Amino acid sequence: MEINKQRNIDEFVKLVSIDSPSFGEKQMGEYIKEQLVSLGFLIMEDDAGSCLNGNCGNIYGFLEGDKLQPPLLFSSHMDTVEPSCGKEAIINSDGLITSNGKTVLGADDCSGIAAILEALRTIKEQELPHGPIEVLFTVAEEVYCKGASEFDFSLIQSKEAYVLDLTGPVGSAAYKAPTVLSFEASIKGKSAHAGFAPQNGIHAISAAAKAISQLDMGRIDEDTTLNVGIIQGGLATNIVPEHCVVKGEIRSYSHVKALEQVGTLKEHFTKTASTIGATVGFQISCGCEAYEIPLDHSVVQRFKKACEHQGVSASLEGTFGGSDNNHLAKHGISGIVVASAMNRCHSCEEYTTVEELHRIAELTVLLMTI
Ligand SMILES: [Zn+2]
Repeated sequence: MEINKQRNIDEFVKLVSIDSPSFGEKQMGEYIKEQLVSLGFLIMEDDAGSCLNGNCGNIYGFLEGDKLQPPLLFSSHMDTVEPSCGKEAIINSDGLITSNGKTVLGADDCSGIAAILEALRTIKEQELPHGPIEVLFTVAEEVYCKGASEFDFSLIQSKEAYVLDLTGPVGSAAYKAPTVLSFEASIKGKSAHAGFAPQNGIHAISAAAKAISQLDMGRIDEDTTLNVGIIQGGLATNIVPEHCVVKGEIRSYSHVKALEQVGTLKEHFTKTASTIGATVGFQISCGCEAYEIPLDHSVVQRFKKACEHQGVSASLEGTFGGSDNNHLAKHGISGIVVASAMNRCHSCEEYTTVEELHRIAELTVLLMTI
């Protein structure tokens, strides 16, 4: 099996050149739909665009295949982080591919999209036998997987999935990821003139500071981290502040632990604030839920076999970031997140290489056909 290397790179360059910020993926979506139709896919775009005030929905495609084989799902996200407009792939003579320095490159996640498209073209061209193939290209992944959270997963037939959206050398994949809980504690005190009558005030910032200073921040056990990332409060230097908002997040490989931790946190803020007469409103939102795919699961075994065929060493690891795969797991689809030739993502120094782009395309062909 040989992929078409020139076509693979040309496709990556083309995808990078399409502006596709979160909620503005329309052009990318249209382009991908065209490609899928020409490859024989049945396609569907959902209404995530209108639900999220974006201009494009999630794109789902189905390609028939040998029914005796299990259907497999391949997925990447269509949006890129900022600065995302006017992207350009600069290919150096040594095979290094960077942006022009003014934007991200967008290998996160154009590398995944390119690999899936090249794999499908190779399969079609060379008439390689395969089972039913489903693809899902999501919108707004970079903003807490908002696109995936709108998708109707009952459409998906596959029980196994490969999400091409991970940094690291091709051959690595993540089989577990954490629950990510965001919290917001709104502390309410009482305003008063700070010079004339400070005794009449209840100092919301002071209450917040007391509560925060007693927290263990960072890695709080082998599975769990806690961070306070934002504090907002106060109106003027001569007013005892009435409001203070504290925002942070908890991550844990254990969903139960994350929930326990956030419960403790709520209690702690409420109790501490009450010692000076302040009250606390506490909000929690769950960005994604933890999963762990057993290493003897067929989705992992197929990945290992494909890596072996290709001569790259497979490395299964945990990631501490959420992805669309958390949403697949929540809907009973066992997926792993596969490294797809992206490095230093979410910065203008993002890069990939010609070699790695070929490697992930070849690996994707193997995953689809092995
Ligand atoms: Zn990504």
